[in-house]
Amino acid sequence: MKYIFMTGGVVSSLGKGITGASIGKLLQLHGYKVNMIKMDPYINVDPGTMNPFQHGEVYVTADGAEADLDLGTYERFLDMVTTRENTNTAGYVYQTVINRERRGEYNGGTVQVIPHITDEIKKRFKVFDNKVDITIIEIGGTIGDIEGLPFIEATRQFILEHKREDVMSIHLTFVPYIEGAKELKTKPTQHSVNKLREVGIIPDMIICRTQYPITDSMKNKISLFCNVPQKAVVEARTASSIYHIPEALHNQNVDEFILNRLNLTGKTKFDTSWFEYVKREKKTNKVVNIGVIGKYADLKDAYKSIDESLKISEMDDENIKVKVHYISSEDKDLINKLKQMQAILVPGGFGVRGIEGKISAIKFARENKVPFLGICLGMQCCVIEAARNLLGLKNANSTETDKTTPYPVIEMLEEQKSIKYLGGTMRLGNYEADIVKDSLAYKLYKSDKIVERHRHRYEMNPKYIEDFKKVGFYVSGYHKDILPEIVEIKEHPFFIAVQFHPEFGARPTKPHPLFSGLVNAAKNYLEKQN
Ligand code: GLN
Repeated sequence: MKYIFMTGGVVSSLGKGITGASIGKLLQLHGYKVNMIKMDPYINVDPGTMNPFQHGEVYVTADGAEADLDLGTYERFLDMVTTRENTNTAGYVYQTVINRERRGEYNGGTVQVIPHITDEIKKRFKVFDNKVDITIIEIGGTIGDIEGLPFIEATRQFILEHKREDVMSIHLTFVPYIEGAKELKTKPTQHSVNKLREVGIIPDMIICRTQYPITDSMKNKISLFCNVPQKAVVEARTASSIYHIPEALHNQNVDEFILNRLNLTGKTKFDTSWFEYVKREKKTNKVVNIGVIGKYADLKDAYKSIDESLKISEMDDENIKVKVHYISSEDKDLINKLKQMQAILVPGGFGVRGIEGKISAIKFARENKVPFLGICLGMQCCVIEAARNLLGLKNANSTETDKTTPYPVIEMLEEQKSIKYLGGTMRLGNYEADIVKDSLAYKLYKSDKIVERHRHRYEMNPKYIEDFKKVGFYVSGYHKDILPEIVEIKEHPFFIAVQFHPEFGARPTKPHPLFSGLVNAAKNYLEKQN
């Protein structure tokens, strides 16, 4: 069993997740089984209760954990399925230790950061032992943060307790370009590595995020001051696609260095087909514009997996380019902007704000036969729109937005009503759905049974299903014959909305049928326009 620790320095948002996942990908292409763990130093038990403005998208694992969006990166790069075991926070670790203390399991001892918290963290580093060959552990935050110290201390102990050839440490830093001097600067990297060494971790490899190429003389300097061999100083230059990064690292022999360091040789012949796939050239200049109408339009990270799912579907079709436009559902010019789109997507969300804009975007897509995909709250808004405008139910709404609506077409399930704790109590993770034959959903999935991830409290009220059917708005997927999972409009070239989150299922080489369906419908729509 081998372990690789990833830490980050200088500033946050350098892409530790992407870099770690790229390394994981390389090791996978050498034939190794790899898994990844994220350690987040904040006190929230999980990010489920956090605002996307704070944290970006909340990712959902197959078994229903609400997690950091890096897990999505792991899934997409490594083509794997994450679970609760892939995600940890300081809050989650402390909660476990405190619960144990309350049960009296420490036998009267004083419970302390060292060893009780650090032991619990170290235990979690080992959850994939005997299941994979290599675990990559990403320590969230930036070196020097107070919050991250228990995780860093646990890492130090873990390295000490394992054979040198079984564990290594990689530090990701930032090499800024100073406009006035027209120079890249290595000093922040030197300071960051010093900080790391102060807490007892000596990096085996330093990966430098940069806008511009890092010269050999700079690598020399970093090598000398930071005490790593020159070939372990790696450039991670901003790339046009994140999926090009594994190859960029491979070209600098990163995988060779890591394999040597861990005393591994590569299990199988190195497979480059993934590299070839992600860099295929387009055979066209045709562009479709897809509008994503959400509340967090200024913050692309809030729709990370949707963004990636659209890119993945784009990547799969050499005959189309996709341009995604994030448009605020409160934009005064919404309808005019929608007129420029060849497809419209309304994503998930929470709360009252922005709902009416989403509903008008859906009305526009329905009436003008613009390809449409609704996700979670996006589906709920479709139901509200159809109730108001097809069934004539004035003021129909979801009880999430209007508690006293006369027509509660979206409602909370009884079992949700008694819940007091907000964290981890939604309908979360994988649920099955049966798909009605002859539907668009069936055509896209090519199957009558699917499993998709969920994250919501409210559901379409089954009371209205029959009335909707009469006006051509019908349910094409059910969970256990009762809960509506998918709705469609018969007289529309592509109008589908789903209660679950298909965006967590797309991977390069395996695009998700709903997203590819949307891109394809947009392509047809563009052809008709011309
Ligand atoms: N707010 C809605 C619910 O809780 C939708 C959630 C979502 O879009 N993820 O049901």
